[in-house]
Amino acid sequence: MICEQVQAGIPDFLRGYSTGQRNREIENHLETCRACQEWLLTWEGLCRLGQEYLAWPATVDWEPFDVALEAERHIHPLGGEKAGNPPRPSA
Ligand SMILES: [Zn+2]
Repeated sequence: MICEQVQAGIPDFLRGYSTGQRNREIENHLETCRACQEWLLTWEGLCRLGQEYLAWPATVDWEPFDVALEAERHIHPLGGEKAGNPPRPSA
């Protein structure tokens, strides 16, 4: 396998989509090729970032933020705003 083939196959390799034979070829190549090792690390970093980004909204507790925001609005009311709260995004 040449570097181009290995690097093209790395996204599938990381997600477990490639076949056993292809995985072995990629692994063999990665053992000896520093350029492709770095490519793999870059992809692993991207995948981690993507997972953290996807997991983010579900794990955030907005309650303290809402309370703090509400307190802030009482201390520094927005000028020109009529009584009543603006529409809030539904959860
Ligand atoms: Zn390579």
